[in-house]
Amino acid sequence: MPATSPSPPFLVFGSPLIEQAEIDEVVACMESAWLGTGPRVAQFERDFAAYQGLQPSQVAAVNSCTAALHVSMVASDLEPGSEVITTPMTFCASINAIIHAGLTPVLADVDPVTQCIDPAAIEAAITPRTRAILPVHFAGRPCEMDAIMAIADKNGLMVIEDCAHAIESTHHGRKAGTFGDFGCFSFYATKNVVTGEGGMITGHDEAHIARAKVLALHGMSKDAWHRFGDQGYKHYQVVEAGFKYNMMDLQAAIGIHQLARVERNWRRRDTIWNRYMAAFADLAIGLPAPPAPGTRHACHLFTIMVDAERSGISRDDFLNAMNVRRIGTGVHYLAVPEHPYYQQRFGWRPEKWPNAMRIGRQTVSLPLSPKLTDADVGRVIEAVRDLANPA
Ligand SMILES: *Cc1c(COP(=O)(O)O)cnc(C)c1O
Repeated sequence: MPATSPSPPFLVFGSPLIEQAEIDEVVACMESAWLGTGPRVAQFERDFAAYQGLQPSQVAAVNSCTAALHVSMVASDLEPGSEVITTPMTFCASINAIIHAGLTPVLADVDPVTQCIDPAAIEAAITPRTRAILPVHFAGRPCEMDAIMAIADKNGLMVIEDCAHAIESTHHGRKAGTFGDFGCFSFYATKNVVTGEGGMITGHDEAHIARAKVLALHGMSKDAWHRFGDQGYKHYQVVEAGFKYNMMDLQAAIGIHQLARVERNWRRRDTIWNRYMAAFADLAIGLPAPPAPGTRHACHLFTIMVDAERSGISRDDFLNAMNVRRIGTGVHYLAVPEHPYYQQRFGWRPEKWPNAMRIGRQTVSLPLSPKLTDADVGRVIEAVRDLANPA
């Protein structure tokens, strides 16, 4: 019998690159016995603000991007039932945060090429009840923020940017998350900077951020670091009904070192991205649009479009075949109106947003972590070339 070669290790989709510095920092945090919100969160906030070109008073660390989105919308003080226009090509958290803030999500279709929300579709979705726009910088490609901010200014709308994919993104020289009233970032385990679970709120208006901070910690006027530090006991006052959304020092311990390497990791993502683009150029699959001039793509997701007729394999068969080859993939995303809850609650049908529907039924995210070796990337390329038709 021929010797069978051992199966290669499973490539876990989105597995982050964790290095010794963050491991040591977590251990130091444990040894300090200050696990909750404290000096490491304060440092991570300072470092993140500096990276985004903001003041420390313009950022607030929280325990997820979902929390950041929720708190931002509560802090926006919109009357209940106000409409918030967002994209059908996003994670459910963007929609759920709108609902939990007592607001009504309204979908505007994406551009078929950029896969980001189409400014013309935003304009068409505006009603007398519209109060905010929630653009998602999809895959790390910044939305058309000049057009979106012009629409917001003309109609007096708040803008809350979902920057879960967009830590490194810039648009015409400005960082994503600094255009609107709020920017909401994610440090979930698969994102470009990880803390396990974690998020950040950014904003120009320091009063907005101060309110978001209070809301993110029970509505208390002083956080625990200030109450239990060595400055003597301070009474706190509850000034509104807040949430339990604060980031822990244990999480910030990871984030401080992850953030310090964000540019190095981005260069590795960019290299892998370009290798995929070259390797797949002659296949019958859709590839990401080239970044728009004057913008920087965060290279968070590399998504291909697999269309059964053209590519010779259905999207779901492709996902399964990659899994057989021990390569983890992702789907970002099935369009929001494909999910039963939203269909039942809002009467949404995917056909109403045809670009998002088509993308959601064809899209596959390939591994793009800086943890991938050149050999790992080679395995992904070989598998895709094996499965998809030539052009
Ligand atoms: C990951 C993600 C979120 C949620 O982030 P969490 O930190 O997991 O709450 C929100 N929006 C988009 C587009 C995401 O990809």
